[in-house]
Amino acid sequence: MTAAGPSVAPVYRRDDAFSYHCGACGRCCHGKRIPLGPYDILRLARHFGLVSGEFLRRHAEREGPWLRTTGDGVCVFLEAGHCAVHADRPLACRVYPLGRWVTAAGEETFRELPPHPETEGRYGRDSTVAEFLRRQGAPPYLEAVDRYQALFYRLFDALQAESPGRQELAGVVPEMLGQAAGEGEDPRFVEWLDADGMVGRYCETHQLPVPEAIDSVVEMHIQAIDEWLNSTTGARR
Ligand code: SF4
Repeated sequence: MTAAGPSVAPVYRRDDAFSYHCGACGRCCHGKRIPLGPYDILRLARHFGLVSGEFLRRHAEREGPWLRTTGDGVCVFLEAGHCAVHADRPLACRVYPLGRWVTAAGEETFRELPPHPETEGRYGRDSTVAEFLRRQGAPPYLEAVDRYQALFYRLFDALQAESPGRQELAGVVPEMLGQAAGEGEDPRFVEWLDADGMVGRYCETHQLPVPEAIDSVVEMHIQAIDEWLNSTTGARR
């Protein structure tokens, strides 16, 4: 049975009643921009045996970045109606049909996104948002997103705080984080997102072994960004 969501999307929190049963029709993988964060990129990169910078160059659009789509707006990983990267699909695909918002103060809410008009997904109320997220394997993605977002807020604060610091940061970000960009690449494309590239440079500088496991890469990536923010004028904890 096909059931569309309500016309006015309610606001949910984790304990609220919600369920969604995917009909595996593949229609929700059309006409979407799937955003990618550092953890999404690492999971997808390892799915293909790649490092994060190479994954970005092969499978992501520069803006966003977003997953690349075909000419008619279908996700490049939709094969014969099924997700070819299901085990490592991005957070946006796991949380769908919900969207998640977190304020700077840490308040988290969810809303239903507009469904595909012919989706075979079924909405219900026989579970909770928290259980839906758990079944989708979202918790490690959410933890990583929140940790990176805290760093983004610190950078944003620093950029806002003072003009000299803002100029300095604006100049340093592409210089420090963009070194993994290939010839002719816009270095901003890989800022913050190429965790393997930044961790590789960090390990070289500190004469450390380069980690491969995703959790270890994330830890060192966050540590590298944290140290860089601490050393940069205007960056506040
Ligand atoms: S990654 Fe998979 S679930 Fe997400 S849009 Fe692409 S095909 Fe669909």
